[in-house]
Amino acid sequence: MGKTGVWILGDQLLANHPALQAAEAEAGQENVRVLLVQSAARTGKQPYHRRKLVLLFSAMRHYAENLRERGYDVTYLKTPTFAAGLRQFMREQQPERLFTMAASEWNGRSFQQHQLAQIVGIPITLLPNTQFLVSQFDPYPNHNPDKNVIMEYFYREMRRHFDVLLENGQPTGGEWNYDKENRKPLPKNMQLPDIPRFAPDAITQEVIDEVEAAGHGVGSLADFDLAVTRQQALAAFDDFLQYRLPNFGAYEDAMTQRHQTLFHSVLSPYLNLGLLEPMEIIQAAEMAYAAGDAPINSVEGFVRQILGWREYIYWQYWQQMPEIVEKNSWNAKRPLPTFFWDANTEMNCLHHVIERAIGTGYNHHIERLMVLCNFCLLAGIEPMAVNDWFLAHYIDAYEWVMLPNVLGMGLNADGGVTATKPYIASANYINKMGDYCGGCRFNHKLRHGEIACPFNFLYWNFLLQHEETLRANPRLGPNVLGLRYLADAERTAVCQQAKQFLAEEIGR
Ligand SMILES: Cc1cc2nc3c(=O)[nH]c(=O)nc-3n(C[C@H](O)[C@H](O)[C@H](O)COP(=O)(O)OP(=O)(O)OC[C@H]3O[C@@H](n4cnc5c(N)ncnc54)[C@H](O)[C@@H]3O)c2cc1C
Repeated sequence: MGKTGVWILGDQLLANHPALQAAEAEAGQENVRVLLVQSAARTGKQPYHRRKLVLLFSAMRHYAENLRERGYDVTYLKTPTFAAGLRQFMREQQPERLFTMAASEWNGRSFQQHQLAQIVGIPITLLPNTQFLVSQFDPYPNHNPDKNVIMEYFYREMRRHFDVLLENGQPTGGEWNYDKENRKPLPKNMQLPDIPRFAPDAITQEVIDEVEAAGHGVGSLADFDLAVTRQQALAAFDDFLQYRLPNFGAYEDAMTQRHQTLFHSVLSPYLNLGLLEPMEIIQAAEMAYAAGDAPINSVEGFVRQILGWREYIYWQYWQQMPEIVEKNSWNAKRPLPTFFWDANTEMNCLHHVIERAIGTGYNHHIERLMVLCNFCLLAGIEPMAVNDWFLAHYIDAYEWVMLPNVLGMGLNADGGVTATKPYIASANYINKMGDYCGGCRFNHKLRHGEIACPFNFLYWNFLLQHEETLRANPRLGPNVLGLRYLADAERTAVCQQAKQFLAEEIGR
């Protein structure tokens, strides 16, 4: 039996990789040759957060080490392109066929489907991607793109199919959704748990030195403390189950300047790399509920994020690609304000949130959605400029998750395909859900005037500019109805101030 190659992509670090299993079943472990490639072209395409680069490369190298310890012959290459790495592997190992698993992203998959066979010149087996549950069960297999799918119903179908949080076919606890019990602001003196930190070992330190020497990217590596192995990622998950899951639901939408992660899991970087898998996370959360360790509103809220939102976003990505990158339904054309790159703004919420993104590569969901994207939507920032900023700043950023979240959910640029209404809010929401406004120069109650919060005049300006379109959306009735209380003089004042602010901050 000749040699069989297995190409494992950097975000497919699965404990049981299907391509490896298939190759081994066919050729025997002694004939399997594994390849991991670090492509300079792929990671140099645009700036990325340095913590993300270290996380990715260190996790890949630890994964390769682990496979070697398990007896596999592994080649780890750093080459200018994937094609160069694949050709070098072919020359050195001379496998007779190649197994690989479908990439989660469009370009990667298209490379596997249309170029790979020609580059390697041997038969290839492209296996389906197993990192998402929706690849096993599609709730809308014959989806008509003219009809919108609602996340809530998508999620219920997923729960039914995978038998998650169900008792006799009915939702555990009697409700599908516990949103009413959740969405609470944080009590003032509530103790907030820190997340576990993992000290860099020799492999990680070597990667840190390489990324620092390369000199590109954003953010600092001073305190790199992320999990880089499955074992560490499982430890991070256990910590979440024990110390944060019980309060996850109640405070999942809360924001505070005194703590970065609150009761969030900070598991997205590990799920997106394959170090953790969605079903094991979901089942462990269900078990925590069954054991009485966490209430149903928290467990359902958390399961909804993984089995609902995460799967739905991946499904939307494949439904909407490649056209989604062109979408700009609000005709937003302004460039990103420069303070997105240095956090130098007097708006306290934006200052803190951007500073955290630059510093650590992490913001929790509501900061991403209701502070950053809310601002960009109200200010009319060009969608792909926002997308690129997000891609550059987050440790969990990958195209499949970024495009539908930023262009769809955050900016509503896809015409309401991902989310049925634009997530827009004035400073009132930011003040209700967080404590940023207390320390801010701007007044969250004023609609206009020298110290009025820009979220207010931008919000009312947006409603006025897009009144007709917004009125047509049944989910936005109450917001648009609010315009009735805005006298003519106020309308003029908010529009003028919005114009002036945008000209000063953005230049147009
Ligand atoms: C504008 C915008 C950009 C985003 N960019 C990313 C990104 O680049 N990478 C990323 O993984 N998530 C992204 N999200 C989704 C979500 O904000 C993050 O997954 C979450 O904040 C990660 O932190 P956590 O692990 O502590 O999440 P938790 O609050 O603990 O949630 C648990 C898990 O649910 C999943 N999840 C929840 N919401 C979503 C969602 N909307 N899309 C996909 N997964 C979800 C994640 O895997 C997350 O780890 C984005 C959301 C918005 C609105």
